[in-house]
Amino acid sequence: MQELIDNYKRHLNYLRISITDRCNLRCLYCAPGGLVPKQAHADILRYEEILRIVQVGVGLGISKVRLTGGEPLVRKGVYTFLKDLTAVEGLSDISLTTNGVLLAEHAEAIKTAGIQRINISLDTLDARKYKLIAGYDLFDQVWAGIEKAKKLGFEPIKINVVALKGYNDDEFTDLARLSLTYPFHIRFIEYMPIGNPQMRNGDYILAPDIKLSISELGELIPVNKSESDGPAERYRIKGAVGEIGFIPAMSQHFCQTCNRLRLTANGQLRPCLLSDKQLDIRGPLRAGCSDDDLKAIFHQAVHHKHAAHHLSPEGSCRVNDAMTGIGG
Ligand code: SAM
Repeated sequence: MQELIDNYKRHLNYLRISITDRCNLRCLYCAPGGLVPKQAHADILRYEEILRIVQVGVGLGISKVRLTGGEPLVRKGVYTFLKDLTAVEGLSDISLTTNGVLLAEHAEAIKTAGIQRINISLDTLDARKYKLIAGYDLFDQVWAGIEKAKKLGFEPIKINVVALKGYNDDEFTDLARLSLTYPFHIRFIEYMPIGNPQMRNGDYILAPDIKLSISELGELIPVNKSESDGPAERYRIKGAVGEIGFIPAMSQHFCQTCNRLRLTANGQLRPCLLSDKQLDIRGPLRAGCSDDDLKAIFHQAVHHKHAAHHLSPEGSCRVNDAMTGIGG
């Protein structure tokens, strides 16, 4: 097997897949009302096309897949697709990122399909603020989804919190405190310059400041990283059942350990979330190319991975493509 190793000797074994650019929320930093035009249905990869790309990827050493979007659970037929995906031989880790809106209703179907690991996005514990950030009054529904996922024994359940100045920076302690009583991994993600262009540099709150603001909860004791952790720094507060994590995408590039490629909803292989370079895989696939041709596109994408992304909290550069289509 000709594995995917880039010019910087990074071994790529992780494919993050946006299965739809549609979403049932309008988060102000990602896709506020009407700002992101929807892609044509015909341009979105069909499930069987995604499965073929995954199978080719597995032949090149891809063993981890995470489904994202848009909101993956709004796509019709997703539960059958999940079953088909978990049946692909050679994948050892399949997970899902969701906003949780449809989770209470469908968590069982996700579990039955064979998914064990789930990330749920929740930026606030305040229902009024939730509506302000996410555009809809759905906090209770999302929380019910989180409780359901816990009841069904998903493990781990990671709660993704994007740190947003002026919106949730007064809640970091309350959010982190959840880890004391719930077996959740509360992960603070630094806001990245992608999505709504009206969010400006002043909106950044970086991991060191988040750590400072939750210090009243006690010492953050480092947790050894496991292979499936990705870039998160992991900690536990003494006596806590859950964990606290930080994804310092801007303050501390973790690019040197990046093991990912992304497949966008419209069938582009993207070497890096924070660089607009991508390679068309849908066109050749629909034109009837061979698996070897698809493998060659994977290898080209790998060779386009830069050593590191070039965005910084001080800079004015942004990613042009929409987060919803790329998949966060
Ligand atoms: N709809 C799903 C969800 O809400 O989790 C999956 C897609 S969403 C784009 C994936 C993750 O990206 C979410 O946790 C979201 O908060 C995060 N995200 C979106 N825009 C972001 C940005 N500009 N900076 C940091 N994280 C962002």
